[in-house]
Amino acid sequence: MYYLGDDARYESMHYNVCKKTGLKLPAVSLGMWQNFGGKDNYENARAILLRSFDLGITYFDISNNYGMPKGSAEETFGRVLKADFARYRDEMIITTKVGYDMWQGPYGAGGTRKHIIASTEQSLRRIGIDYVDVLYSHRFDADTPLEETIAAFDLLIRQGKALYIGFSTGYSAKVMEQIIEIASRLGTPCAFHMSRYSMFNREPEAELQTLLHGNGYGSIAFSPLAEGALTDKYLNGIPAESRASKNAGNTTKYISEQAKLEKVVQLNRIAKGRGQSLAQLAIAWVLREGRSQSALVGASRVSQIEDSVAALNRLDFSSEELEAIECILRD
Ligand code: NDP
Repeated sequence: MYYLGDDARYESMHYNVCKKTGLKLPAVSLGMWQNFGGKDNYENARAILLRSFDLGITYFDISNNYGMPKGSAEETFGRVLKADFARYRDEMIITTKVGYDMWQGPYGAGGTRKHIIASTEQSLRRIGIDYVDVLYSHRFDADTPLEETIAAFDLLIRQGKALYIGFSTGYSAKVMEQIIEIASRLGTPCAFHMSRYSMFNREPEAELQTLLHGNGYGSIAFSPLAEGALTDKYLNGIPAESRASKNAGNTTKYISEQAKLEKVVQLNRIAKGRGQSLAQLAIAWVLREGRSQSALVGASRVSQIEDSVAALNRLDFSSEELEAIECILRD
C-alpha cells in the first residue's frame, strides 16, 4: 500500500543537538543490526521502519555487515527507501559503517583506504543512495595509521559520498583524542561516536563521555536495553522468538547471570513506580543529564519501537530514583 508519513511525526519526538555540527538527533534512533536481514521477514522490517519514521525517528543506523547474508540489512533499507521513503530521504540521517569482514582476502576488513573506499561504494549501491549522512569506522584497526583511515574518510566527504564521519566502540578516549586532533587538522567533519552504553555497560562514563561532550561530539548510546536484557521479557524465562531464544547477539550472556536477573527484577520495580516499562526506564537512563544525544535501539516488532519511543513521556529522574538505581547496579 502507498505510504504517506504521519503529518504529526515531528510533534512528540525530542531532538538533541550535536553541538559541533548543529545537527539534531532524535532522542531515540533505530538500528538494523538484527531483524532486517535477507533471512528476516521483509514486511515486518518494513512495518518497523515506517512506524519509526511516523514516530519522529530520523536516524537509521545500518552497517556494511548487518543482516544475513552480510549487506542484506542495507538492501532491506534500500528497498523500503525506494518503495516508501523516496520522498523523505532528506528528512533522514542514514548511516553505515566500514571495518568488519565483508569479503575474502586482506582488503575485506580494517581501516585502510583500500577497504574504506571499496566498502563504502558497495554500501551506497546496496542502499541505492548517492551519499550517507554519517559514515562510521566500526572497529579500531591497530595495523593502520589513524591518518590513513581519516584521510580515506576525508576523500569520501570531499567526493560528496558522506556528510560526516564517526567512530564506534573500540575507539577509546585516548584514540579519540588523536582522531579529534587529526580530523580538525584536515578539516574533516568528524562529530559522532557510538558506544555500547546501558545500565549494564557503563564503560563510556569513565573518560569517553567527558571527552566527547567537551568537544561537542554527538554521543550515541547503542544497545541501551542490553539487547533485550533490560526489559521485562526475560523475567519469567526465555520467550519464543526472542533474541536469546535464537542465540543471536549477546543477550544470553546477560540473562545467564543470576545476579543480573535479580537486578532486572529490582529495576523493573522502579520502572513500575515511575509508570514506565523497564525498557523505557533503561532508555531514559542513558539519556539522563545529556550523557547521550540518542539512544540507539533495536526492535523485532512494531510494538517494541512504540514502547521504546514512549520513554520520552518520562525522562526526568529524581535524585532518590537515581540513587536507588545506583544501589541496584552497585550491589
Ligand atoms: P537494544 O539494546 O535496544 O536491544 C534490542 C532488542 O531488545 C530487540 O531486538 C528486542 O529483542 C528487544 N526489545 C526492543 N525494544 C523492546 C521493548 N520495548 N520491550 C521489550 N523488548 C524490547 O539494541 P540492539 O542490541 O538491537 O542494538 C541497537 C543498534 O545499535 C543496532 O541495531 C545497531 O544499529 C547498533 N549497534 C552498534 C554496534 C557497534 O559496534 N557500533 C554494536 C551493536 C549494535 P527481541 O529480538 O528479543 O524481541
